[in-house]
Amino acid sequence: VAHETPDYLGGLNPEQREAVEATEGPVLVLAGAGTGKTRVLTTRLAHILATGRARPWELLVVTFTNKAAREMRERITHLIGPSAEGLRWLGTFHSVAAQILRRHPELVGLKSSFTILDTDDQERLLKQLLEAANIDTKRWTPKSLSGLIDHWKNRGWTPEKLPPGEDFANGKGQTLYAAYQSRLATLNACDFGDLLLHNLTILSKHADIAEEYRKRFRYILVDEYQDTNVAQYLWLRLLTSSTGNVCCVGDDDQSIYGWRGAEVDNILRFEKDFPGAKIVKLERNYRSTSHILGAASGLIAANRDRLGKTLWTEDQTGDKVRVRGVWDGDAESRLIADEIETAKRDGMKYRDMAVLVRASFQMRAFEERFVLLAIPYTVIGGPRFFERAEIRDAHAYLRLIQSEDDDLAFERIVNVPKRGIGDTSVQKILQIARHNGVSAMTAVRDLITSDELQARTRTALSSFVRDLDRWRALASDTRHWLLTETVLEESGYTDMQKADRATGPARLDNLKELTQAMQSFETLGAYLEHVSLVMDLDRGPSSDAVQIMTLHGAKGLEFPLVFLPGWEEGVFPSQRSIDEKGEKGLEEERRLAYVGVTRAKQDARISFAANRLVYGRWTSQLPSRFVDELPIAHVEAESDTGYYGASGGMKEAKSRWDDAPSFGAGYTSPGWQRAKAFTAGQTPGARPARNAVIEGEGRLIATADPKSGSGFV
Ligand code: ATP
Ligand code: MG
Repeated sequence: VAHETPDYLGGLNPEQREAVEATEGPVLVLAGAGTGKTRVLTTRLAHILATGRARPWELLVVTFTNKAAREMRERITHLIGPSAEGLRWLGTFHSVAAQILRRHPELVGLKSSFTILDTDDQERLLKQLLEAANIDTKRWTPKSLSGLIDHWKNRGWTPEKLPPGEDFANGKGQTLYAAYQSRLATLNACDFGDLLLHNLTILSKHADIAEEYRKRFRYILVDEYQDTNVAQYLWLRLLTSSTGNVCCVGDDDQSIYGWRGAEVDNILRFEKDFPGAKIVKLERNYRSTSHILGAASGLIAANRDRLGKTLWTEDQTGDKVRVRGVWDGDAESRLIADEIETAKRDGMKYRDMAVLVRASFQMRAFEERFVLLAIPYTVIGGPRFFERAEIRDAHAYLRLIQSEDDDLAFERIVNVPKRGIGDTSVQKILQIARHNGVSAMTAVRDLITSDELQARTRTALSSFVRDLDRWRALASDTRHWLLTETVLEESGYTDMQKADRATGPARLDNLKELTQAMQSFETLGAYLEHVSLVMDLDRGPSSDAVQIMTLHGAKGLEFPLVFLPGWEEGVFPSQRSIDEKGEKGLEEERRLAYVGVTRAKQDARISFAANRLVYGRWTSQLPSRFVDELPIAHVEAESDTGYYGASGGMKEAKSRWDDAPSFGAGYTSPGWQRAKAFTAGQTPGARPARNAVIEGEGRLIATADPKSGSGFV
């Protein structure tokens, strides 16, 4: 019988094919971004199934996110058809561990109906424990304890195994941790970290069960191996049989979860753990153009702690990576929105564009701009701005002021903040309203004069109606954003958020942003209509929308056009990593930058702003050191002169700094040096430890006139 190459193997390069076909024994694929690691893993999976080496439920496949798991399932279905449905053990570490735990909960003192707590529940529980132990929860916050416990769990430490030196609240760490675990057991619950930790307990204490799984999982495949933490590593070891048909793929340059306990050393340990392991290196990048790859490679070369590898691409098309300096955050979101619209006009789909931010707070500016321009977008890994609870609450108030008939709005906020109008009363009101064919508010107006509700509820409702009437009267002669502020204040909503130390500040920030965004609309009606249109824009996964996400969330993904905003010292790299002693944190930030740039297939655009509003204060920003580290040959840089240039107006002249010999050698443009000197408050060239903060009203640089370009000192 002639041996034909199956379709799914076609198109692979020899190294990739080697990694796919070496099904028996341990294999480590160690290779840079976009070299087809994930593709190799997927194809290998298809190959194992297609050649009958194992049945779908005998494979353990671990991806980093649920999204990645879904995509892999789809790709395999595409390759081998519906038999991919039997892949029961394909998921994230957590989802697979949860499945295993569901099968043996009694071994760790849980019942099969156990619940998995979210962080809110977790922190509430910890707060109770801290209070019960008479610990000052302002000094020793539930949040920090929950972070610490998570950190312990990521290292596989149960309370008994906690090493000396690991502590909380002066010697109470272990006791609190143990108390927390026993509280969880009483509640028949576990937290996220427990999923793996309980697995470790089960597998290490019950040899027979571990053996059963080792027999079951004939092949193990792991993507993004560089980001596994100790607990995950131990878990994999416990599940790997002596034959060790395990294939891990990863890239040490993309290890970005060190802060969550990930250990790149797991890569180095692989060879030791699996003697005779086959190590495959992939060097050809199929994703990006040579400029993108060149920029990314130059950047990551500044890291000392790396294994080092070669990457090349055949794609010589495409533009250089664009770096733009702009005046402030507003200008940055305007620039990016404009470029998105241009790209869209040129025929690109919205979904082919992504905005990747360092921290989620950066998203708001873009979301607002997109809303304003009706550019559809989705936020991956979090709610969109207008879908956030506090924004919906504020909208509900406004909608109810605008229209008494809006029962949904009524239901949402009639008891938010709490006014003593309980659920039963609300349901009763809605029932009566439905029965009489009137709106809930109309029903309320009747009910407060009848005796169908308790006196207390009636009083609360009367005062709610009075408030609403007053606000409605106010609406006719007050600017709508001021009205919004008043409503939030007078309703007690602001106070309610202030009382919440954990999420309150961020929510209040969002509400402030909301009132700012409203100012660009003539009327409240126009604003609300716009919001409902935008909220309706992209429903369902097939929709065409710009993707906004954090750099961490973008791992493994790719987009034709990628925007990388906020490349400023203190934002990216984060202030925390700058303040930290040593290079470890900075190197991780640099890897994150590398991940960011390498998401782009055709076009990567980096930007930074000279000024940012941070907690109500204008802060002058320095361009990120990562900007300096981009090799000039692959970068085209441009900046608004008002900031960097020595003379000329903001718009009239552009100072191009790509005539400088190299970024690494420092900027030679005098304007640049002066700008640096100004922001640093130091001699040109020196980088300040912290960004200079200019306090006070209005825009930064009261001493400089950006329009006349009169100088920076
Ligand atoms: P990352 O490190 O970012 O996770 P990766 O190494 O997992 O990247 P993949 O996502 O598997 O890389 O592949 C990058 C792109 O290159 C994908 O679009 C993939 O389909 C394509 N690709 C990979 N191998 C080949 C090949 N042999 N021929 C053509 N395209 C390929
Ligand atoms: Mg990948």
